[in-house]
Amino acid sequence: MIIKNGLVFNENCVFEKKDVYIENGIIVSSIDDVIDKTEIDANDNYVIPGLIDTHIHGATGHDFCDKDVKGLLEIAKYLKSQGITAFCPTSMTLKKDVLKEIFNTATTDLPKECANIVGIHMEGPFLSPAKKGAQDDKFIVNPEVTMFKELNEACNNMIKIITMAPECDGGLDFIKEMSKTVTISLGHTTANYDMAKKAFELGATRATHLFNAMPAFNHRDPSVVGAALDTENAFVELISDGIHIHPSMVRATFKMFGDDKVVLVSDGMMATGMQNGTYELGGQEVTMKDRKATLADGTIAGSATNLFDCMRKAVSFGIPLESAIKSCTKTAAISIGVFDKMGSISVGKVANIVIMDKNLNIKNVI
Ligand SMILES: [Zn+2]
Repeated sequence: MIIKNGLVFNENCVFEKKDVYIENGIIVSSIDDVIDKTEIDANDNYVIPGLIDTHIHGATGHDFCDKDVKGLLEIAKYLKSQGITAFCPTSMTLKKDVLKEIFNTATTDLPKECANIVGIHMEGPFLSPAKKGAQDDKFIVNPEVTMFKELNEACNNMIKIITMAPECDGGLDFIKEMSKTVTISLGHTTANYDMAKKAFELGATRATHLFNAMPAFNHRDPSVVGAALDTENAFVELISDGIHIHPSMVRATFKMFGDDKVVLVSDGMMATGMQNGTYELGGQEVTMKDRKATLADGTIAGSATNLFDCMRKAVSFGIPLESAIKSCTKTAAISIGVFDKMGSISVGKVANIVIMDKNLNIKNVI
């Protein structure tokens, strides 16, 4: 396949007029390497890498925690149709045996019409009850290496990210022991600056939905936000759905951290891609009205906006297009260690590609 006449978002994250050559699902260097010479005319539209959502619970009425392979396929199909070509299905705080069953449904072997699964994001149960957000505190437990290993082994080591609170009993020991195995992300936490800094020093490399479910970025105790800023290799997730974070804070976060540290995520739940109504997240009832999903007590419960829409929102808030794309593609891929396979339109990588017009409408997902 040849994608002609497009403005291609290259590995340096700038647009460049060039053709893209694909053979057998992989990007190749020249037309001579292409056997199937089907042409797609990009018509001067943008050609960008498929987006990677590293924090998403569900969509179209389905949730990863439903333990339903068919439902997970529906989520993956929906994501691909929306330009999100890879994702980390994300679990909620539940009992170990239930998590095991959920993780068993995750597979890297999905049909072509689906987005790829690039690993599981395990959000809980090692969280702080004081910052549970929409997580069910009945199932919150202290960090346990044995429990994590059992879960990870049961799903062939598919857990890519774990969101945890380092201040819980055993939290720092867990980070010390497991940070080489899994990406440790600080979240649903009461950690102050010193605690968060210690966690980063011991191997944490990420913060989960920055600003949400953690202490505020206070001038006397800047908490996880300040500690992440002071840590060279720390990535920060940001939910730019226009509901979780004020647009000014989205601009501030990109200015403070830069687009090589900010990873846009959707934190989407099953109401994503659906009408207003009543849904469920981690066993709790959630009402979604005009893209805002809340528990009965008003707590925000995940988002109802897919990552492509989050990217568009970020641009509408004043984030340069190149930065918004980068944070959903290259930076997202680097943050979970898959940039050698995806996240940019480069020779040798999977041809996960989106063609979109100048108004950011999707024209084609390849
Ligand atoms: Zn979440």
